[in-house]
Amino acid sequence: MLAHKIKDGKCPNCGEKAVYSSTEENSSIWKVYVKCEEDDGGCGRDFGRVGVIKRSNIDHTDQMHEKAEKIAEKFVD
Ligand SMILES: [Zn+2]
Repeated sequence: MLAHKIKDGKCPNCGEKAVYSSTEENSSIWKVYVKCEEDDGGCGRDFGRVGVIKRSNIDHTDQMHEKAEKIAEKFVD
């Protein structure tokens, strides 16, 4: 599972950059997770699963990452 920093996405708890990651649930759904990385100096707060993306709504992986980041941004400052 690859984690990506959320642009302008700070953890509401500690102010460090939060990250999002997406994992393939099955052939038609991606799950999006948000976390504040302890390894990166954050507080380790886990926001859990913040949303899902239907594969039918995207054409390629880049688009999925854009959508994942948009969803993730709603959960951080
Ligand atoms: Zn934090």
